[in-house]
Amino acid sequence: MITGLPYRPCPLVLAAPSGTGKTTIAHALVERFTRFEFSVSATTRLPRKRERDGIDYDFVSRERFEDMIEADELVEWAEVHGNLYGTPRKNLEAAADRGEHVVLDIDVQGAHQIRERVPDAVLVFVFPPSAEALWTRLTARGTEALDEVRRRLRAARDELEEAEHFDYIVVNDDLDRAVSRVRAIIEAESHRPRQTLDLDGEVGRLRAEIDDVIRERPGD
Ligand code: ADP
Ligand code: 5GP
Repeated sequence: MITGLPYRPCPLVLAAPSGTGKTTIAHALVERFTRFEFSVSATTRLPRKRERDGIDYDFVSRERFEDMIEADELVEWAEVHGNLYGTPRKNLEAAADRGEHVVLDIDVQGAHQIRERVPDAVLVFVFPPSAEALWTRLTARGTEALDEVRRRLRAARDELEEAEHFDYIVVNDDLDRAVSRVRAIIEAESHRPRQTLDLDGEVGRLRAEIDDVIRERPGD
C-alpha cells in the first residue's frame, strides 16, 4: 500500500523587510519539524552579540567574500544595508543530498537571483502585520540604533513592492500561525508531480498491480 510518494525536497526562500521575523520563522521550522535545515550565509558584517560563527553566519572578510564570488561558490549574493551577504552553493547541494528542505533567510535581491537559478525553489514573502509591529520588533530586538531602524523602515517601503513576484505571502502576526502556514506551503509544494521521485516507476508499479487485481477478480 502506498501511503505517500517519495519526493525531492524543495529549497525554501524566506524574504521580508528587516525585523518582520523571517529569521525567527526559519529557526522555528528547523527546530519544530524534521527535514528542514538552515542555510548559513556568508557575510562581511561583524557578528552581533550572541551570534556564533558558522551557525548564524559564516563571518568572512571582504577579500574572502570576493574570492568566493570569483570562484563561483555563491549561488546568489547581494549588498544589504552596506554589507555583503551570500548563499554558498554547497548549502543547497548538501541539503539535496540529505533529502532536506534548505531554508534561505535572504533579502529580496537574493530571492530574485534564486528564482532564476534554482527553478524548484519556493519563494515566500513574509509580511509584517503593521508598521507599528515592525517598529516595535526592530527596536525590541535592540540590534540597530534608531537611525538605522528608520533607514530599514524606509527600505521596507520599497521591498514590499516586490511581494507580488513571490509564490506566496504569509503574514507574521502570530508566530505559531505563520510557521504553520509556511510548513503547509512546503507540504503542498512537495506533492507536486515534478517533486515526486521516480514518478514513472510509481505509476508503472501501480498499473501492474491494477492489472493483477483485474485478472484475479472475475467479472459477473
Ligand atoms: P528578520 O530576520 O526578519 O530581520 P527577526 O527574526 O530577527 O527578523 O525578528 C525581529 C524581532 O521580532 C525579534 O526580536 C523576534 O523575536 C521578534 N518576532 C519575530 N516574530 C514575531 C511575532 N510573530 N510576534 C512578535 N515578535 C516577533
Ligand atoms: P542581518 O544583518 O539583519 O542579519 O540581515 C540583513 C539582511 O540580509 C536580511 O534581510 C537578511 O535576510 C539578508 N541576508 C542574510 N543572508 C543573506 C544571503 O545569503 N543573501 C542575501 N541576498 N541576503 C541575505
